[in-house]
Amino acid sequence: MHKEDQPLIFELTKPGRIGYSLPEMDIPEVDMSEMLPEEYLRVEEADLPEVSELDIMRHYTALSKRNHGVDSGFYPLGSCTMKYNPKINENVARFNGFAHVHPLQDESSVQGAMELMYDLQEHLKEITGMDEVTLQPAAGAHGEWTGLMMIRAYHEANGDTNRTKVIVPDSAHGTNPASATVAGFETVTVKSNEHGLVDLEDLKRVVGDDTAALMLTNPNTLGLFEENILEMAEIIHGAGGKLYYDGANLNAVLSKARPGDMGFDVVHLNLHKTFTGPHGGGGPGSGPVGVKADLIRYLPKPVLVKKDDVFTFDYDRPDSIGRVKPYYGNFGINVRAYTYIRTMGPDGLKAVTEYAVLNANYMMRRLSSAYDLPFDRHCKHEFVLSGKRQKKLGVRTLDIAKRLLDFGYHPPTIYFPLNVEECIMIEPTETESKETLDSFIDAMLQIAREAEENPEIVQEAPHTTVIGRLDETLAARKPVLKYVKQ
Ligand SMILES: *Cc1c(COP(=O)(O)O)cnc(C)c1O
Repeated sequence: MHKEDQPLIFELTKPGRIGYSLPEMDIPEVDMSEMLPEEYLRVEEADLPEVSELDIMRHYTALSKRNHGVDSGFYPLGSCTMKYNPKINENVARFNGFAHVHPLQDESSVQGAMELMYDLQEHLKEITGMDEVTLQPAAGAHGEWTGLMMIRAYHEANGDTNRTKVIVPDSAHGTNPASATVAGFETVTVKSNEHGLVDLEDLKRVVGDDTAALMLTNPNTLGLFEENILEMAEIIHGAGGKLYYDGANLNAVLSKARPGDMGFDVVHLNLHKTFTGPHGGGGPGSGPVGVKADLIRYLPKPVLVKKDDVFTFDYDRPDSIGRVKPYYGNFGINVRAYTYIRTMGPDGLKAVTEYAVLNANYMMRRLSSAYDLPFDRHCKHEFVLSGKRQKKLGVRTLDIAKRLLDFGYHPPTIYFPLNVEECIMIEPTETESKETLDSFIDAMLQIAREAEENPEIVQEAPHTTVIGRLDETLAARKPVLKYVKQ
């Protein structure tokens, strides 16, 4: 189904029409066949559309309007923290002194940028309760891997080479077991109990002298705060392992509780979630990692240090796991996060958590009248529902998600976490108004009524979008990524 109103750019082609003006070439033309091997030379002219500047402008503007983003509508995608990205962050990131610095510039000429990075690290140390922070990792999963490589280096330095296992709860974010595997560990799953929290008995069963670390997503992917962290810390530390905190969703505990105080040795944050870096289009992100004192030696190098009010990059770090990212991380995202932290202040950051948690609990309560609530307890910044009741009526969670498109919403995360049948994972964030939350709730309640009274309208949704139901398997296996003449 394809309801096209805008002609495709290739169909507007008029031979000879051009949408650019370039100056006369004033350098000698080179013979490409002397520069490139034959196999890389183009044999036919590229089949590009020939259109005017206005045509191409309208083409891209039309495409941009078909995108859904935080600036165009509600985006309650669980575990992704699609909250408003304040525009002041963008203004500051565009300051000439930030936007136009080059990573190969002499340190003496970029002291301001280095000071910002240093201060950001100091703020993140304070926020997480850790002893040192690196800004190098480019994403949450990259931070996880960086943290695990440091844990690995720590155990190896202690001659503890048989610590090959990382314990990961079944309610962890999917990147946790993946990062552990990429870091060369074997993943051991620990089960959740009937309350959706880590089962301590099962944890005691799997822990041992081969345990390198426990990776805890907190709040877990059910949006629940792990209540037994101090006991877990005792169990893991008692066995000689390290404690890793997946802090991608710090929105839930910011300024209320600190991983460092709970006994964690390593934590990563997602600046592109909690700290309002724009995301959703594939980056760039930033996944800083904080560590306790006994892991500082292993931090990626160079390490940013301050000596007599001068900032330098210290490369003389013999125990470092090495560089994990070219240059020093995604600086632009660091500038945005720094701006956010400074504009919010400590009280503002506390309010973030309070409203994020309040909004999630408000929605959860109101929606529990029509949808099953697998874990009926206070949630943190997000919660999960189950579409089991609707499935019995022939309406799957996927249908509900598609129907939400008709109301102009980005659907929540669905079918994740895996331990909840027909899972719907909703994260409203603190930046939405009560009116927005209520409208979304009304839409969800209407869909639940439709499932009972008129299931076809849900099963056949979406009805208002340019593209209707996709064959998702075909789209994933055989994607059509370029214009094909019909
Ligand atoms: C988003 C997320 C990650 C992964 O972060 P990326 O930046 O996408 O790599 C890890 N853990 C949790 C809990 C998350 O929500």
